[in-house]
Amino acid sequence: MITKVRPHLSPNERLLFERSSPGKVAYQLPKLDVPAVDPGRVLGSENVRADIEGFPEVSEVETIRHFTRLSLWNYAIDHGMYPLGSCSMKYNPRVNELVARIDGLAWAHPYQPERLAQGSMEVMARLEAALAEITGMDAVTLQPAAGAHGELTGILLIRALLEKRGNPRKKILIPDSAHGTNPATAVLAGYTVEPVRSTSAGMLDVAALEGIVDPDVAALMITNPNTLGVFEENIVCVAEILHAKGALVYMDGANMNALMGIARPGDFGVDALHLNLHKTFSTPHGGGGPGAGPVAVKKALEPFLPVPRLRRAGKKWAWDYQRKHSIGRVRAFYGNFGVFVRALAYILAHGGPGLRNVTLDAVLNANYIRKKLEAYFDLPYPAPNMHEVVFSDERQAEKGVRTGDLAKRLIDYGFHPYTVSFPLIVPGALMIEPTETESKHELDQFIDAMIAIAGEVERDPETVRAAPHGTRTSRADEVTAARKPVLRWKSA
Ligand SMILES: *Cc1c(COP(=O)(O)O)cnc(C)c1O
Repeated sequence: MITKVRPHLSPNERLLFERSSPGKVAYQLPKLDVPAVDPGRVLGSENVRADIEGFPEVSEVETIRHFTRLSLWNYAIDHGMYPLGSCSMKYNPRVNELVARIDGLAWAHPYQPERLAQGSMEVMARLEAALAEITGMDAVTLQPAAGAHGELTGILLIRALLEKRGNPRKKILIPDSAHGTNPATAVLAGYTVEPVRSTSAGMLDVAALEGIVDPDVAALMITNPNTLGVFEENIVCVAEILHAKGALVYMDGANMNALMGIARPGDFGVDALHLNLHKTFSTPHGGGGPGAGPVAVKKALEPFLPVPRLRRAGKKWAWDYQRKHSIGRVRAFYGNFGVFVRALAYILAHGGPGLRNVTLDAVLNANYIRKKLEAYFDLPYPAPNMHEVVFSDERQAEKGVRTGDLAKRLIDYGFHPYTVSFPLIVPGALMIEPTETESKHELDQFIDAMIAIAGEVERDPETVRAAPHGTRTSRADEVTAARKPVLRWKSA
């Protein structure tokens, strides 16, 4: 008989506070050999605390082990595949972390005088030029700090242009497959949102669009490829419809790994778009930032770009603040510089053909998954897909198993879940984006797990519905967890 033991390493790790033992410290310091200073005098007595109530007193080893164990509970891109669609983390080459930490770049200060910042300014100028080339646009601002921030900047630029033409107009059209930040942006910029239907092919309904573009429409905000991973084949015609009525086309370019090196938004009628450097261009995301959401525009929008703008002054770079039509600043200083360094390093290391390969691999990987899984999961929009594929849980729902259950079961197989229940136009969506970096081996393991789960749903739906079974906690009450979080662990 096997004796049940309580393991030394418990998945119910106690809080550090509860391990505290008075007098324990995590450091050793030699005796002071300089005159002691009264901290109250140096820092101001109001900034000095004699005691921090409840502060854990633990050793160095206890501290390190505690946080290392906690970190292992997390699934991370360095453990395995992250098949999340839309916002997925693309390739983050480690060497670019090294590049971003080069002293002269990492320690550059935004208040450095221009003559001492020429190198940093050159990095920004080259990145602007590279992004303009990749997108087929005329000018780029690097200021916005994230994708949604880029959207807001872009729509404010459109608003400024229309205002100068005499009327900012009232509405922004947004397809029903759009990312949630799009309507939020439109409203923040003072517009009302009018949804545009998709056809059964998963593309914008051009006839429906034609019927609703009127002189009140300021712009269409469109993601291409859209959140179904489907390329809007009618985009040139769509842009013409808007332009004919004096409206503009804004593109959400957060996921450029479906287009880079193959198609340029500037060539298919887009007037403004943002990019997410923290998705497609090397900076890791998921930890809350920093990111960067540069905005690229056509000539007509250039006068309105945020100040300051980089300007060539003889052989040097200078910052130009004197731009009378500018919408002003959207951020302090010049943007998240460390992200720019990574992006430029990524672009230069890949070169044009390399970036094109990124797109080809991303599309190949997504289609490989689609082909292997389409016999097991319902594919509501069978149009050719690009960098991601969206299934629905229609077949599994007959057994009472929904997309959220399938995703939870995937955790037991050692994978991070795909995106659950998005895009909203697909009820019970399973949105999968493998990205360009996954090997065939990893894709096959993911596919095997998905097929195994589909089999379990047929044989034993209850087990899938109660998943995950191998984790520290299983089904959290998500509503209560959000509304009334209990942030303190009570040991039994
Ligand atoms: C991620 C994403 C955004 C928002 O970008 P943030 O940097 O998170 O603000 C907008 N649109 C699409 C399609 C995205 O994938």
